[in-house]
Amino acid sequence: MPLETNRQHVLAQIRTAEATAHRVSGSVQLIAVSKTFPANDIRTLYQHGQHDFGENYIQEWHDKTQTLADCPEIQWHIIGHVQSNKSRPVAEHAHWLHTLDRTKLAQRLSEQRPDNLPDLQVLIEINIANEAAKHGIAPEELLPLARTIGALPKLNLRGLMCVAQADADETKLRRQFSQMQDLLAELQTVAPQADTLSMGMSSDMAIAIECGATIVRVGSAIFGKRDYAK
Ligand SMILES: *Cc1c(COP(=O)(O)O)cnc(C)c1O
Repeated sequence: MPLETNRQHVLAQIRTAEATAHRVSGSVQLIAVSKTFPANDIRTLYQHGQHDFGENYIQEWHDKTQTLADCPEIQWHIIGHVQSNKSRPVAEHAHWLHTLDRTKLAQRLSEQRPDNLPDLQVLIEINIANEAAKHGIAPEELLPLARTIGALPKLNLRGLMCVAQADADETKLRRQFSQMQDLLAELQTVAPQADTLSMGMSSDMAIAIECGATIVRVGSAIFGKRDYAK
């Protein structure tokens, strides 16, 4: 299926979910998750007006930024775990980081963000189902980390991100996404500018939108099945 047809289908699903949830049309932003897919696929969608792309793997993404240097309006969202020794390309080339989960990484990004660039927009990743294999902080750690980030220059704390439990039924998903909405309200007590909830993927975006997602991260529903499990 042509990529743009897939993207239009996803956009229609987003608009339907917004209407079902009595939310303003256009209040949910689509990030096209292009990990494992070639730069040319990104270019195709860019030419149709998609500007926000999500990538997980720093080397792969960095290579794509070079290839796509002639697409100046791309907004790169890093949505995978970032090791501290990989912080520099993120600080120098990303627009958003969805997976901030510790002080050390925040400090490095703040120091490495070039002065001539706008602040890096950051989200704190929450391990919402307390899964051992997942990254992200526990809800109790939110306010201390938020205060630390708030004191650092060149970072703008915009909200929260989660990956819901993969095998959860609808009831559980709803509980996890609703808890994220409560945590955003808690975050706003120390970071009033925080306005973003990044949650919902190809399989669960409608429920996430019902529960207040402002960004959905959609990969396979646009690009197709990934070759390898990543
Ligand atoms: C891969 C990935 C996505 C997209 O997942 P799909 O199921 O392909 O839509 C979203 N968020 C994160 C963090 C991812 O790693």
